Amino acid sequence: MTQKFMSLLKRSFVRTFLRSMSTERSLELSQKYEQTLKLVQQAAQGKVVRLVAVSKLKPASDILDLYNAGVRHFGENYVQELVSKAEELPKDINWHFIGGLQTGKCKDLARNIDHLYSVETMDSLKKIKKLDSIRTEVDGSEINVSLQINTSDEGQKSGFSLKDAELFESVEYLLSTECKKLKLQGLMTIGSFNESVSDSENEDFARLANLKKELDRKYGLDLELSMGMSSDFIQAIKQGSTSVRVGTTIFGVRPVKH
Ligand SMILES: *Cc1c(COP(=O)(O)O)cnc(C)c1O
Repeated sequence: MTQKFMSLLKRSFVRTFLRSMSTERSLELSQKYEQTLKLVQQAAQGKVVRLVAVSKLKPASDILDLYNAGVRHFGENYVQELVSKAEELPKDINWHFIGGLQTGKCKDLARNIDHLYSVETMDSLKKIKKLDSIRTEVDGSEINVSLQINTSDEGQKSGFSLKDAELFESVEYLLSTECKKLKLQGLMTIGSFNESVSDSENEDFARLANLKKELDRKYGLDLELSMGMSSDFIQAIKQGSTSVRVGTTIFGVRPVKH
C-alpha cells in the first residue's frame, strides 16, 4: 500500500474516532448556541440581528459541530488560524475576520480564503487599498468590510478615531469605482471593558450608533453595526447592533494564545 493511502486511512480512522468522542461536546455547543440565539432574538424584537460565533483558538471540530447544526457565520482573529480552518472546513462557511490586521497579512487574507465574508477590523486606508488590490489581482469574490472605530479612545485599541479625516477618506474610497472587490458593510467597535460590564447605556455603543447616523446621512447609506460580545451583546442590540460577535458564551473559556 502506498504511504499516501495509509495516511488517508489513518486520518479517516482518527476522524471517526474523534467524532464518536465528540457527541457530548456537539450537543453542548448546539445548546449553547441555541440559548444565545434566543437571547439575541428576544433583544432584537423582530429586527434581524446576525449572531457570529467567535471560534478563535477553538478546534475546527467545534466549528464543524455547529456547522452541522446549521450555523454559517464564524469569527476568527488570527490570519494563519483562519487560513488553515478555512482550508479544512466546508466552503459555504461565512468567515468574519475580526482580529487585529497587519498590512503585511492583507495578502494572506485576500489570496488564501476564497469565501471570506467580511473583514470587520479595517482601520486604515492603506490596508483597504492593499486588500482590494490583491483581491482584484486574484479575481476573488467580493469581501464585506467594516471600519473599526476606537470609540473608547484607548491607546491600546485599534480603529479610527471618531473625527479622523482618514475615516471619511476610507468611506469615500470604498464607495468609489476605484474600489473593485470590497464592499462597505458597516462599522465595528469593541468598546471599553468598563462600559461592557456596566448596566446602564453603553457610551461606546452610543458613539458608534451616532457615527452611523452621521455617515448614513452624509453618504446615503444604511450601515450595519457590529458591536456586542459575550458580556454585552444584549445591551448592544438594544442600542442598534445588527451583528454580535459571541465567543465565550457559546464555546466556553478559550485557551491562552501562545
Ligand atoms: C474574541 C472576540 C470576541 C468574542 O469575545 P467573547 O467575550 O468571548 O464573546 C468578539 N469580538 C472580538 C473583536 C474579539 O476579539
